Amino acid sequence: MKGNNQRLVILGAAESGVGAALLGKQKGWQVFVSDGGKIKDQFRNDLVKYEIEFEEGGHTAEKILNADCLVKSPGISDKVEIMKKVRSSGIEVCSEIEYGYRYKGDSRIIAITGSNGKSTTTKLTWHVLKQAGYDVAMVGNIGYSFARQIAEQPCEWYVMEVSSFQLDDIHLFRPDIAVLLNITPDHLDRYDYKFENYVASKFRITQNQNITDHFVVNQDDEVIKEYLATHLVHAKKIFFTMNETNPDNEGGSISGSRLYVQIEGDTMDMSIHDLAIKGKHNQYNSMAAGISARIAGVRKEKIRESFMGFEGLEHRLEFVATVRGVTFINDSKATNVNSVWFALESMKKPVILILGGQDKGNDYTEIMALVSEKVKAIICLGADNKPIHDVFDSVVDTIIDTNIAADAVHAAYSLAENGDVVLLSPACASFDLFKNYEDRGRQFKEAVRNL
Ligand code: ADP
Repeated sequence: MKGNNQRLVILGAAESGVGAALLGKQKGWQVFVSDGGKIKDQFRNDLVKYEIEFEEGGHTAEKILNADCLVKSPGISDKVEIMKKVRSSGIEVCSEIEYGYRYKGDSRIIAITGSNGKSTTTKLTWHVLKQAGYDVAMVGNIGYSFARQIAEQPCEWYVMEVSSFQLDDIHLFRPDIAVLLNITPDHLDRYDYKFENYVASKFRITQNQNITDHFVVNQDDEVIKEYLATHLVHAKKIFFTMNETNPDNEGGSISGSRLYVQIEGDTMDMSIHDLAIKGKHNQYNSMAAGISARIAGVRKEKIRESFMGFEGLEHRLEFVATVRGVTFINDSKATNVNSVWFALESMKKPVILILGGQDKGNDYTEIMALVSEKVKAIICLGADNKPIHDVFDSVVDTIIDTNIAADAVHAAYSLAENGDVVLLSPACASFDLFKNYEDRGRQFKEAVRNL
């Protein structure tokens, strides 16, 4: 895909849009960036520095509809006015990973998607390759965008976190190793409230793969199983599972307290207790990362070592502190019910659960059994806590309403006894009361440290 002074228009000027703009400029495209809102200073500075034409606070149709190729940022829905016009004009629309892909050269890609666990698995896989001395970058939602990384510091390997939105506008994008962790309902507002559209979007990660590529996939996920039963995948499938205890099968498995990864007859194993990141979900993430790293050629010993030393990510089951025998855990990134299920599942002590925020139409029945078994009290932390009361009033004796992090922490602490855990795992987005999930997590941690 040569620039040839063709016109590249980019909608959205955040990390992926600006990344695509820098790459386009470097490759000789005539680049124009349009953002309907206000552009953050750091990104505006990039555009100014590289002399890229841009507008903000609205979209000028005449400057957009003459594009030869249009890169749409993942946050922009097809339902906005300008996108309707773009779609009906027949302009080629790419996502940023698609655009970057065309300039990737001989590099290799491990692309990771799923409803939950993408960031953790991406960082873990990157960490393993890095420790093994690979020339590797971590890109996507975590770190730089793929396009920016290619423009500024191309590498031999990319470990990429990919969202369903990024997959919606791919054409040639073909990862050497694609990972699909799980599929549970999320972001349905962007998929006409049709779960099957969201599922199809996740599976796009393998659509261009062929038999020389690998598709690493969760065998225990019912949605994935059902899709695979009716759709053909060309890549070589490598499964990981907790339900099958035969470590001699190719792929990943857990048997007793050991984790196995077997590739081409060669088995690696280690104790799950040696994994630095805890919980069943992280055993899944570790199997996926371990398989990917083995396929990429990393030695077994290096993988074991890297798994033991991996620090995990902020806001994902992050230990904060123990105050007078009460342990505080920050899982602010748990913005859907499924991640709360895994958080509760991994708790060994009685829990005071801080729950709530902007509800995306949650179905809490999935966590009902775990809540009745493990949760002593619920502290609601949201602008509207009615959905939580409706579901849990009959199950949990104490439910308290709060709407700032410090109050939630104090309420939880006053109810907690020695040996309890206070878990912030909200199952909801944070935008009703906080800037984002990071802000919610940091305010929570700050309040704990002030106890
Ligand atoms: P993503 O990038 O897909 O949002 P993260 O790694 O940031 O995923 O984790 C998001 C939330 O999901 C956290 O609360 C984390 O504890 C939980 N989680 C992580 N891995 C999994 C998994 N494999 N299945 C279910 N939940 C998970």
